[in-house]
Amino acid sequence: MAAAAAARDERRDGGPAKHQPLAGKIAVVTGSTYGIGLAIARRLAQHGAHVVVSSRTEEHVAHAAEELHAEGLNVTGIVCHVGDADQRTKLIKETVSKLGGLDILVLNAAVNPYVGPLLNATAEVWDKVLDVNLKAPFLFVKEAAPHMKERGEGAVVFISSVTAYFPNEDIGPYCVSKTALLGLTKALSRPLAAMNIRVNNVAPGLIETGFSAGLTKDEKMMQMFRNVTAIPRAGYPEEVASLVSFLCSRDAGYITGQTMVVDGGGISRL
Ligand code: NAP
Repeated sequence: MAAAAAARDERRDGGPAKHQPLAGKIAVVTGSTYGIGLAIARRLAQHGAHVVVSSRTEEHVAHAAEELHAEGLNVTGIVCHVGDADQRTKLIKETVSKLGGLDILVLNAAVNPYVGPLLNATAEVWDKVLDVNLKAPFLFVKEAAPHMKERGEGAVVFISSVTAYFPNEDIGPYCVSKTALLGLTKALSRPLAAMNIRVNNVAPGLIETGFSAGLTKDEKMMQMFRNVTAIPRAGYPEEVASLVSFLCSRDAGYITGQTMVVDGGGISRL
């Protein structure tokens, strides 16, 4: 038990190496005030980037920025609801004007506004889920790419889900929006490569956050997950964050248009 806790603390600290592959980089992470987004912001900053943390709620942004500052990390907080075009533009413009550019964009914010039979999903549900989970990430990339090009190179990471591979009928629109991100990643890889920008997609399995608490706190459900994953537990946000940081670094310089799964060896693909 003590060893498992120590291993988790080490993941949170960024590991013993303390290397800085992202030194001098400026990064924006959407939906980064708690959960996986906060872990990504922390890891990018531990690896040397100046990170803009953001989400819909001013109080959450201030709290996350304070928490990371207290850890000695270089962060700036900017409020942004990713479904709002003006707020998206403000996030990119303020980042560039305050911090001097933009190198890394992680599109993590997403919503799941509907649980129920797929055939009962309304047009409003589809509009919301596609606006926030698919259109907003694309429109962010469109707006950020010229700034990345100006810096000479850039990296974009989408956050999808393993449910992209096996859509669950009860959360159908959410799953399908995540499947679409796989296609968007591939489709963007060539036009972005022409600007020296790489784009990749990370598909987490079940990760311990507020978003998944309904599942992780349900022992029956957890037993089912343990039966289908090689590593019989839910993942930690830090285990998604470490892959995102790698994909943003020059160590991943020949990787683009790919989706990578972080699911403890589940049933996502052959
Ligand atoms: P979470 O714990 O609920 O955190 C969501 C974060 O996004 C918060 O910072 C929230 O802050 C912000 N947010 C929510 N809606 C937003 C919006 N419209 N605009 C801007 N920020 C917004 O979620 P999570 O579990 O970390 O999930 C993060 C990503 O991983 C999502 O893309 C999710 O689909 C994906 N994912 C999660 C799991 C899992 O098991 N947890 C599995 C697969 C994929 P505010 O409330 O202040 O806005």
